[in-house]
Amino acid sequence: MIRKLLRRVFRRGPLAEHPVETIAANRHGIRREQVSPGARRVCETLQKEGYRAYVVGGAVRDLIAGIEPKDFDVATDATPDQVRSLFRRSRIIGRRFQIVHVMQGAETLEVSTFRAAHDEDTLKDEHGRVLRDNVWGSMGADAARRDFTINALYYDPVREEVLDYHRGVEDLQKKTLRMIGDPRLRFREDPVRMLRAVRLAAKLGLRLDPKVEAPIAEMAKLIDNVPVARLFDEMLKLLFSGYAVECVKRLRQEGLHHGLLPLLDVILEQPLGEKFVMLSLASTDERVRAGKAVSPGFLFATLLWHEALANWASRKKAGELPMPALHAAMDAVLDQQAEKLAITRRIIGDIKEIWALQPRFEKRSGRAPLRLLEQPRFRAAWDFLVLRAASGEIDGELSEWWREFQEAGDDRRNEMLLPEAAKKRRRSRSRGRNTPGNPAPESA
Ligand code: ATP
Ligand code: MG
Repeated sequence: MIRKLLRRVFRRGPLAEHPVETIAANRHGIRREQVSPGARRVCETLQKEGYRAYVVGGAVRDLIAGIEPKDFDVATDATPDQVRSLFRRSRIIGRRFQIVHVMQGAETLEVSTFRAAHDEDTLKDEHGRVLRDNVWGSMGADAARRDFTINALYYDPVREEVLDYHRGVEDLQKKTLRMIGDPRLRFREDPVRMLRAVRLAAKLGLRLDPKVEAPIAEMAKLIDNVPVARLFDEMLKLLFSGYAVECVKRLRQEGLHHGLLPLLDVILEQPLGEKFVMLSLASTDERVRAGKAVSPGFLFATLLWHEALANWASRKKAGELPMPALHAAMDAVLDQQAEKLAITRRIIGDIKEIWALQPRFEKRSGRAPLRLLEQPRFRAAWDFLVLRAASGEIDGELSEWWREFQEAGDDRRNEMLLPEAAKKRRRSRSRGRNTPGNPAPESA
């Protein structure tokens, strides 16, 4: 007990607490109105009750960098029970480390109590990965346990000041991503920080501090020890950050694209599908930045499509009928990837629906096109078809036909439909080449 106390008092080294610097509005540039009303109100209420309360983490960083924050988190020295008692619409969540969700209008704010950095007594795995960190601490300790200096900033919306323990504002202005403490140690504690480094640098246009960059290549294999579900979450964050194309470029620069994550291998090691995948990431980025909805199912359907295509092609070559062959190919690819990538059953369902509708776009006569339009997943499937055309996998004429068909009135639709008989003739003429339902060859 006493030894533990002494150790805490005399703790030195990278995670020791730093003195705080108070930064005024003219230097940090954040205006109070940029903080959401809910976050402001939560901080004001807590401060009126005598607690410390700040907007913290990603939101402060993004505001200083001129990016609109996704959400606002609050950090305080009030305990979860104390927070809970101040807000009628709030609830405590989490078992190991409790935080409070406070509802303010349509907003839900995550309010967490200052947490201490772990010490020698913290439970770690045999590689030094921290398994549990759940001790409350001072504000300085809370700053020190965070990963990068730019993430350890606290904004006080009442006084309009930023409290900065690790020169994060300066790093942000110098466009450098710097680790708090020794990067090797911090990567060993939590290898996911390597991915966070690349994602944040891509998003904010920062260069990695050489001390952060240097150990990444040699430590990348530690990522294998991270639970697959956590990696999947981080992967989704990366792909839906609005900067996925830039992230992938950076991962490649860092040599992190190989063997780091199965999904990245899938993306980056398929020359035939690369154009398609990059187009898909670019369109995902565009949608995210425009605030439009994005679906993991659609994105994963694009990431794995060329693998499914290859599998399908070899089955058809072996004499299987096109449709059963497609379904067998889908199952084969998804069975193999789903477990590795921790793709959920729901997402798998979405992927299959989008894929299974693709051959149906080839049928442009009779009642088939109208029936396809009525499919609940038509819109996603058509977006997918447009990407296939843009990447050169199929003829753009097909996606254009469907664009017009969707918008056309009944008369125009009837004109557009290909005659049944003509279709039959075409089919027999081209048998053995690109029959409907078969993708064009990759070289097309
Ligand atoms: P985003 O913009 O994607 O939300 P973020 O930095 O806010 O990025 P979160 O996962 O929301 O990421 O984390 C909130 C804060 O918690 C971070 O700003 C950082 O201070 C801290 N944090 C998150 N993950 C880690 C980690 N692996 N190690 C140390 N601190 C972390
Ligand atoms: Mg965040």
